[in-house]
Amino acid sequence: MSDTLLSRFLRYVQIDTQADETSKSYPSTPGQLVLLEMLKQELIALGAADVKMTKHGYVMASIPATTRKPGVPTIAFLAHVDTAPDCSGKNVKPIVHRAYDGKVIRFPDNPRLALDPTTSPELLEARGKDIVTASGTTLLGSDDKAGVAVVMTLVEKLVRAKNLKHGLVRVCFTPDEEIGRGVDHLDLKELGAQAAYTLDGGSVGEICWETFSADSAEVTIDGVTTHPMEARAKGMVNAAYLAGKLLASLPRERCAPETTGGREGFIHPTRVEGKVERATVKFILRDFELDGLASKRRIIECLCRGLQAAEPRARIRCRIRKQYRNMAYWLRDDMRPVQLAREAMAATGLKPFDHVIRGGTDGSRLTEKGLPTPNLFCGEHNAHGPLEWVAVQDMEVAVAACVELARLWEQKGKSKVAREKGTSS
Ligand SMILES: [Zn+2]
Repeated sequence: MSDTLLSRFLRYVQIDTQADETSKSYPSTPGQLVLLEMLKQELIALGAADVKMTKHGYVMASIPATTRKPGVPTIAFLAHVDTAPDCSGKNVKPIVHRAYDGKVIRFPDNPRLALDPTTSPELLEARGKDIVTASGTTLLGSDDKAGVAVVMTLVEKLVRAKNLKHGLVRVCFTPDEEIGRGVDHLDLKELGAQAAYTLDGGSVGEICWETFSADSAEVTIDGVTTHPMEARAKGMVNAAYLAGKLLASLPRERCAPETTGGREGFIHPTRVEGKVERATVKFILRDFELDGLASKRRIIECLCRGLQAAEPRARIRCRIRKQYRNMAYWLRDDMRPVQLAREAMAATGLKPFDHVIRGGTDGSRLTEKGLPTPNLFCGEHNAHGPLEWVAVQDMEVAVAACVELARLWEQKGKSKVAREKGTSS
């Protein structure tokens, strides 16, 4: 199997599918459609049923049930085709390091770069495995083409394993996860699943069912612009200065991504633009709990009011938007999707462990919309940068765990899975 999974992975990473947050189209970049179309053709060739690309580019397919048992829930496996805007995904040249020896890995296209087990200790777990890296100038794209290759290989396995009893299995490849638009147009009725899994995680055995809850804030400061020569006389108010003042007043020591960890939330200015006339500051607000998130909204609003009071001639507006919510709020009511994933991994000989994500996944929004969707490992490491790597054998065990998961849902799933109609609590 290794070469099939590996050759798929190598084929996918060579297509530039970098997402673009400034784009207004959906998917945000045409390269994603190239890969999605390729996946559609491959699903047809593998003998999957109901293969379809929706008008927004989602590619879906079915592996029909092999069980006659009534009431077995339909489960879905998802992976995203886009790569992060943070690092180039153009002309990715994947390099396979067979039977990795545990030493520092060098990159032919950037001699200054080194992948070192002392700073990437997970590498030591990969000794003896076949590792794939990029060549030094791009990311690899294992986030999430490792997941795409795993799901595709899962389809192949399930289509061939006629004796394996499972319910209806759906697969779905999505665009634009990295820019937070991954499930904007995903029709849950069309997907038709009662539980789902994204294959977009790290180390072997990892199960993520807790994510941040997230809001964004945008502060717009309107100043008063004049010629500098008569600034004092005409009352210039420099919006750029006020933006700086706002940033300086943030509780950075206890509330920034670079000063927090574990289950602590943060306020993070992601973009500042400004001149005399107008300045804008964009923030992301994160916390695991809703009251913690609310207190971060209050901090920003309070600072804006203070700034306004100190400079009445300026006009300061703060707009807060909801982004996504911690999937645990819903999963705690029905842990079976998580529990069955744990059992499937254990049955595959792995040690399952929970990983709390200081971020969100497409599953955060899907779970809130009524489709419980934890995230499972597929071997990605050092995502979004040139040191990204994945071990082929880790992707293979992810496939095996998913096969087992399909089998377990047939055995134990029952159709009790809540919120089929999207009535989340
Ligand atoms: Zn991802």
